[in-house]
Amino acid sequence: MKSNEEGTFSNGDLVPFGTVQIEPHSTVLNYGQGLFEGMKAYRRADGEVQIFRPEQNAMRMQMGAERLLMVAPSVEQYVDAVKQVVHANKRWVPPHGKGALYIRPLLFGSGSVMGIAPAPHCTFLIYTNPISNAYKGRHTNSTLSLLIEDTLPRAFPGGTGGVKNIGNYAPVFQVTKEAKAKGFFDVLFLDAEEHKYIEEVSSCNVFMVKGDVISTSPTLGTILPGITRNSIIQLARDLGYQAEERKFSVDEFLEADEVFCTGTAVGISAVGSATYKNTRVEFKTGADTVTQKLFDMITGIHTGLLEDNNGWMVKID
Ligand code: PMP
Repeated sequence: MKSNEEGTFSNGDLVPFGTVQIEPHSTVLNYGQGLFEGMKAYRRADGEVQIFRPEQNAMRMQMGAERLLMVAPSVEQYVDAVKQVVHANKRWVPPHGKGALYIRPLLFGSGSVMGIAPAPHCTFLIYTNPISNAYKGRHTNSTLSLLIEDTLPRAFPGGTGGVKNIGNYAPVFQVTKEAKAKGFFDVLFLDAEEHKYIEEVSSCNVFMVKGDVISTSPTLGTILPGITRNSIIQLARDLGYQAEERKFSVDEFLEADEVFCTGTAVGISAVGSATYKNTRVEFKTGADTVTQKLFDMITGIHTGLLEDNNGWMVKID
């Protein structure tokens, strides 16, 4: 759907997956004025399909739209559109416990504009794709290995690291490709000013566990406020852990008992090792970990095996 002169959206159409027409002078193609989102729909044991916290996604897109001078659909319109798309693709939602339907909303500047300026209107669309489970951590040989990047930051204070701007991702392709070629799962970035504080991975947030305290970097504009991150903080507190958002140094991080990543794609996945300046440090993984407890809890909520006390799962019918 496309925004109108008043800066609002009227309801869009459901169309078969295909190509999108876009003006060559659109701001998304020329200046990266675009946002994306990601969420998942899960099938419960009784067959019912539910989406995890779509309104949070809608609000994060609105926040990004404000930062990039775009207009976004209302939360109601967004959630309604997501429900319609999932409903139309219901048969593609994998069986209970076997994966999820990944939902990808996009919002970008479209229409013609002369010069470097925000778009006259925006286009919002959603596509989906079934994916399998991605959890790593139950077995020590399937945990994530992170390479801590000590020179290149992912985001800068005052930049767009805190929103899901499409332009945040291509600049880290090079370092992540190099890390993957060396056998790492991904790159863990440090802050841009001192190259000292832990920020996040290129596509997920990171937590460390020390005793009963679970810590993650604060959302001060250079990391994405992950919806899984926010949910895990709450679940950790429900389980009686102290969950804190604070700055911590790479040195402190390397002393952690456990480390895990959170995100819509990885869910919650244990980190088995982190390598910093050629030194590899290992973390505890396996069945008897805080990571495993949090995994069981959030997965139980996703798949309907545990009570959804927070009202996070949204039915599509
Ligand atoms: N950080 C970055 C940079 C991401 O791209 C993502 C994925 N959206 C996340 C963190 C995790 O966010 P969420 O839990 O909302 O998927």
